[in-house]
Amino acid sequence: KESGRSKSHLYSQKEQTKELLKTRILWKEKIEAALADKRLCLHFQPILDIKTNQISHAEALVRMIDLDGEIIMPNSFIPIAEQSGLINQIDLAVLQLAFETLRFLQTQNNPLKLSINLSGKAFNNTLLISTLKEGLKQQDIDAKKLIIEVTETTAVANINTAVNLMNDIKETGAKFALDDFGVGYASFFYLRQLPVDYIKIDGSFIQTLEKHKEDQVFVKAVSEISQLSGLKTIAEFVENQTILDLLASYNIDYAQGYHIAKPSATLPNNKLILSH
Ligand code: C2E
Ligand code: MG
Ligand code: MG
Ligand code: MG
Repeated sequence: KESGRSKSHLYSQKEQTKELLKTRILWKEKIEAALADKRLCLHFQPILDIKTNQISHAEALVRMIDLDGEIIMPNSFIPIAEQSGLINQIDLAVLQLAFETLRFLQTQNNPLKLSINLSGKAFNNTLLISTLKEGLKQQDIDAKKLIIEVTETTAVANINTAVNLMNDIKETGAKFALDDFGVGYASFFYLRQLPVDYIKIDGSFIQTLEKHKEDQVFVKAVSEISQLSGLKTIAEFVENQTILDLLASYNIDYAQGYHIAKPSATLPNNKLILSH
């Protein structure tokens, strides 16, 4: 009886693995098809300059449009894309869409700055890096309007390569932001070494800011250190006015979150819907 039970347990585990593999293959095919049909698009979330009370930036967030028109969020396909290597093509597609957006902003004389997310594999993607550098040098793109968000995991995996590449790219005028700050490694230690211009404090510290004294202490400290180092701070997941007021009192520079606006297909300050 005992062995019978463990056998059936093993069997069901094997079945589970098979199911998992099957869904992963299905998702991989879904992503490949979306890349081939150019069914990736960007949504934009406004970022508020707290001091001027104006929208100064927008973060571009990738979405996949399913064959039935349904919008698929990045958390559903980015992890699988990273495991299967398709992430390199997604990073390239996002970059091309970002270039189109920057060109559009330039034709409109729109001062909005655009931030994009690149994956942890971006610094090893030589085609992406060369496309990025070449694109930023073009006349019809204002490199100063682009901010590249990287996470600590991306930057720290091979810190010397990352620092060199970042400095190289920064020569075009583009800027870097350290995304999800505070949830990574020894955050402040790496911060000193990375040539970033903005720090995005992870949403998990901001969402609970009114309730948790520890979060307040952390956010205040990040703000003070950033000011001393000449870095700009962005708080993400700003979900109510109380949080926004607290951030203002800590001299945080920028706020992003549902309280200001949800991501949408439309660029802020503009009626036109970019459809790619
Ligand atoms: P992220 O870069 O930290 O982006 C912020 C995420 O938080 C976005 O989710 C955004 O919609 C969500 N968010 C914004 N404000 C609030 C708020 O007030 N409350 C809450 N609860 N959530 C808020 P989204 O668009 O689903 O993106 C999730 C993650 O997927 C991103 O996190 C980023 O890591 C990744 N991602 C998004 N776009 C790209 C891309 O183009 N390339 C790559 N490689 N990754 C991307
Ligand atoms: Mg981001
Ligand atoms: Mg973030
Ligand atoms: Mg985050």
